[in-house]
Amino acid sequence: MGCGFCTASLKIENPDAGVSMGYDRQTDSFVPAVNRETPGAGRHDFICPGMTMDMVRLAEQVHGKIPDDPLLGTCRELRVCYAADEEVRHRAASGGVIPGVLKHLFETGRIDSAYCLHPGTDPYGAEGRIIQSAAELAGLHGSVYHPANFGKHLYDLYTSPGKFAYVGLPCQVAGLEMLKAKYPELARRHVLSLGLFCGGINTFSGIAYYLEGFRISWGDVERISYREGPWPGKIRVTSKSKGGDILIPRIRGNSRWKILRYIIAFQGYWMLKRCRLCPDQVNDFADIAVGDPHLAKYRAQGGAGFSATISRTERGEEMLKEMLSLGKIAGETVDREDLISSQGYTLDNRRHVTAYVRMAELLGESVPHISVYPELQKTVGVRHYIYAAVDLMKIVLPKNRVIRACYVPWQIFEYVFITFTPSLILRRLIKILRNK
Ligand SMILES: Cc1cc2nc3c(=O)[nH]c(=O)nc-3n(C[C@H](O)[C@H](O)[C@H](O)COP(=O)(O)OP(=O)(O)OC[C@H]3O[C@@H](n4cnc5c(N)ncnc54)[C@H](O)[C@@H]3O)c2cc1C
Repeated sequence: MGCGFCTASLKIENPDAGVSMGYDRQTDSFVPAVNRETPGAGRHDFICPGMTMDMVRLAEQVHGKIPDDPLLGTCRELRVCYAADEEVRHRAASGGVIPGVLKHLFETGRIDSAYCLHPGTDPYGAEGRIIQSAAELAGLHGSVYHPANFGKHLYDLYTSPGKFAYVGLPCQVAGLEMLKAKYPELARRHVLSLGLFCGGINTFSGIAYYLEGFRISWGDVERISYREGPWPGKIRVTSKSKGGDILIPRIRGNSRWKILRYIIAFQGYWMLKRCRLCPDQVNDFADIAVGDPHLAKYRAQGGAGFSATISRTERGEEMLKEMLSLGKIAGETVDREDLISSQGYTLDNRRHVTAYVRMAELLGESVPHISVYPELQKTVGVRHYIYAAVDLMKIVLPKNRVIRACYVPWQIFEYVFITFTPSLILRRLIKILRNK
């Protein structure tokens, strides 16, 4: 999944280690590479949240217990919030809670730096960076849905002095916690983690597939961002040949056929395999976890951005309370059921990842070591195995012309007969036929 914790942790053990992350054409993502043999760099001296995700141990480390709520994880308060600064709210992917909190941390002198993903200036250039001022936050807005060199500067984060905040996807936050467990000095400097909800990363080829539907060739893409304008945002592509920007819809404001292509491109065939074998969508180990509240109530508010916001630790909750009382963010509490439904059926599938792991083994795929909260072992059902089989087949099938021709008809079949309950089937079918 390209988080880079392996290379960072090898370098911590041996600063001369000749390892780095780089783009790999075959997997169409970022992978570690050994640039030169390094004497003494043992094979197992590295941290890899991709290989091992021990949810039980991490929950005990971060929260002192396994969560009472195995679906949402340990929660203090559930809210929907947004940054009071209108520009930040507008430019952010959801409601701007992440940049809002980081700005407040810089302004109050609680942090010297923050580790965040910078989207870069070309599609392959997204990388983790250490920022040192609130002014740098303006360049970070948005969600990067394609692979990135997240760990590029993790080693520098380890060696640099001072207090820091950290922004990451669930695996990246878990990786930081693994690193903190091994290097307590890092833990002492860590002030706060802001975690993004995450439904998975897609390879560049998947994004190219979606753009083809708008007659945009991937080779012509100079820059791409996915969350432009009114929430939940459109895709902006800067074209090399035309020199200008093209705005294209994602789900909202799109035709049904294009939505099918969007789902094919972003939620299935091109998802990184490890993302399909992930037990966490809502960032269980962050102090504050943030996502999109995909609920009618917020969609109806004319494109103003909102962030589903879960405070998970005492320091996370204190931070949000302070910002709410200072008027730096605004928000209201939200029901547990609403928050869960805002994440669709993905959250339920993620939590029952043991079905996915078992199915991947049956398909002969290598699988990570994952431990899940014990309660979830009891609720794995037939539907999880069905979703797992469908989702994993999409990833393991070769992506040749014949199979690609079946994507749309299969997606219609899946959309109509697998994803939804029978009561919805007829309405959905009519919508597809009307192309609305
Ligand atoms: C790959 C991915 C999948 C997501 N899936 C879901 C989902 O299933 N459900 C849901 O509700 N929300 C999901 N989100 C989260 C949502 O899109 C917003 O990113 C989140 O609400 C934060 O928005 P904001 O308005 O607070 O921040 P913004 O101002 O938009 O700032 C975003 C922050 O996130 C960081 N960031 C962006 N992309 C990445 C990345 N790939 N890796 C690490 N850090 C990154 C940036 O560095 C920046 O600090 C996903 C985001 C990503 C990147």
